[in-house]
Amino acid sequence: MPTSQTVPGVAVAPLRDEGAPLTGAELVRANPYRPWPARITSITDLTATEKLFEFRFVDERIREAFRHEPGQFVELSLFGVGEAPISISSSPSKSGFIELCVRRAGTFTERLHQMQCGDIVGIRGPYGRPFPFDDMRGHDILLVAGGLGIAPLRSLINNIHDERSDFGKVTIIYGSKSPAEVMFRSQFEMWRHRKDFDLYLTVDNPDDTWDGEVGLVTKPFEHLEVDPGRTFGAVCGPPVMYRFVVEEMRKKGISYDHIYMSFERHMKCGMGKCGHCQIGHQYCCIDGPVFNYWEAKNIQGSM
Ligand SMILES: Cc1cc2nc3c(=O)[nH]c(=O)nc-3n(C[C@H](O)[C@H](O)[C@H](O)COP(=O)(O)OP(=O)(O)OC[C@H]3O[C@@H](n4cnc5c(N)ncnc54)[C@H](O)[C@@H]3O)c2cc1C
Repeated sequence: MPTSQTVPGVAVAPLRDEGAPLTGAELVRANPYRPWPARITSITDLTATEKLFEFRFVDERIREAFRHEPGQFVELSLFGVGEAPISISSSPSKSGFIELCVRRAGTFTERLHQMQCGDIVGIRGPYGRPFPFDDMRGHDILLVAGGLGIAPLRSLINNIHDERSDFGKVTIIYGSKSPAEVMFRSQFEMWRHRKDFDLYLTVDNPDDTWDGEVGLVTKPFEHLEVDPGRTFGAVCGPPVMYRFVVEEMRKKGISYDHIYMSFERHMKCGMGKCGHCQIGHQYCCIDGPVFNYWEAKNIQGSM
């Protein structure tokens, strides 16, 4: 008889009758520490320091079974180098591959940036609490990203795009330091002309090529029309941004209950075992990285 095991915070596959082949989903869950080989199938330069990588799992069963939700992350391993948590940037509505947008920051990410299409990495996950996508259905959505914060929010934005009729008004505010640091420019350029997305791109330091807004990511709030009773807010960006963006959302009357934000903390295991990302009684890896305003308020240094 198959039986089940439970380890707090980690889904473990039920033990199976001997000889029965494991499905892809069971393989993914069977050993949560095991990275699965994945091949780099596309690399796109986004800016001088960020690249978008597309990965496909080598094992077809894993490739078909792997599922994530917007806001979740994976642990990416480069064999012989190490591991790093990276947000999944592609939409769950697209299966068979995942995209990760990675900034060159230090040893690990530098090595990843040197890799080529066809190279093999390891991926385990997905981990973490996602944005409450199903609760957001039927509502207006206000998404605010600063800098690299666009990486996890892109998964949510693209998911909303693919299920657009389930949502009301969708507003995206994305701020960067300079035009050269704006990521996914061609995608946003396309959306700028669509009537079902309100898009505001802002930069702190414009140049001659820039025809968007100038100022901090909070600037577009000045002329934003929000129906507060039916709006969810989603925020991701550098730590300094959260307090000011949440303040603007509150000024527009959005309920704290409906404001969600994604945080990055130094973490290792990704599954609530090692304690690296512990903040008070919470582990960023399993209680987050997406937190509601009320939870985030109690995280030291976050708001
Ligand atoms: C849940 C989560 C999701 C993430 N998603 C992405 C993503 O989508 N794209 C991306 O490029 N990076 C992401 N990161 C950050 C990424 O994990 C680090 O940049 C990476 O581990 C740095 O490794 P390194 O060896 O290249 O640099 P290191 O030499 O380890 O660090 C270089 C610099 O980056 C800083 N840094 C390292 N780790 C973190 C961290 N976890 N949070 C903030 N700063 C850090 C260090 O303090 C240092 O200043 C995420 C982190 C977390 C926790």
